[in-house]
Amino acid sequence: MGLIALEGMQFYAYHGVYKEEQLVGNEFTVDIYLQTAFDAASTSDELADTINYETVYLICKKVMQVNTQLLETLAQRIIAGLKHQYNSLQQEPVKIRKANPFPGSRVQGASVELEDNFVTSCPRCGRGFICYRDDSCMNPDIPILPQTLMELRRRYKGCLCDNCLREFAG
Ligand SMILES: [Zn+2]
Ligand SMILES: [Zn+2]
Repeated sequence: MGLIALEGMQFYAYHGVYKEEQLVGNEFTVDIYLQTAFDAASTSDELADTINYETVYLICKKVMQVNTQLLETLAQRIIAGLKHQYNSLQQEPVKIRKANPFPGSRVQGASVELEDNFVTSCPRCGRGFICYRDDSCMNPDIPILPQTLMELRRRYKGCLCDNCLREFAG
């Protein structure tokens, strides 16, 4: 288990609720902390086995280029982008700072910090596993009938771990 941090990513963008911000723009700073399993990369020394900083940066950049009113929305989109790119993330706090939070202000900055924790316990066996609570869940590598999957989701009101899913594969 390890932590990868990308701090102080700078973007000039036009997010905000005020007309001035949408016209003139503002400085934004994004910090990201990713918690993931490091084991494969630290033995192989291969970039493919770990999280590529440039990819993380590009995901942020793409989100920051779409004008939005709230910092919360931006943080949420970054989290969604990262979790779709990497399926080994356990936690990913994202912090976004805005330099001049409202027109004419002498405040140093306003910031929003969002954190999503994807480690949950299986409702059937109680074992810990990673659940993204969206369509990418319930491992598609396990051959399981769609109607069985639907039935399981209904019965357990959420996702099951891979171990439990394997018992229903066939
Ligand atoms: Zn289970
Ligand atoms: Zn899930």
